[in-house]
Amino acid sequence: MSETNNTIFGKILRGEIPSDRVWEDDKCIAFRDVNPAAPTHILVIPRQHIPTLNDISEQDKSLIGHMVWVVGQIAAQEGIAEDGYRLVVNCNERGGQTVYHLHMHILGGRGLSWPPG
Ligand code: 5GP
Repeated sequence: MSETNNTIFGKILRGEIPSDRVWEDDKCIAFRDVNPAAPTHILVIPRQHIPTLNDISEQDKSLIGHMVWVVGQIAAQEGIAEDGYRLVVNCNERGGQTVYHLHMHILGGRGLSWPPG
């Protein structure tokens, strides 16, 4: 990564602002959302700065697969795997993305309506 990742998640990755981390490995980290939309609301982010879903390249496919595997590990760790949960990735303005560092939302701990509003 040559450019400085000045997003809030870049700062979290560098430890410049605190986060409640629930997972950490060489490819990604996960931490609790500061403004949870459900009893369990965890964000999984890659260490590599990928701004949006649209910026995932072919060489990132194994990273994205790893992150989805981590989601399952965290769901088990949090005790929401059996009851069920939702995985959300917002992309760009109409998708509701506010932080331009790719992240997966894990939402669980309550019933979630479908379709979303
Ligand atoms: P987006 O809207 O981009 O899909 O999701 C961004 C998420 O990041 C939001 O759910 C928001 O609550 C969360 N968030 C924003 N700033 C911080 C922060 O400083 N710490 C943590 N833990 N979460 C944050």
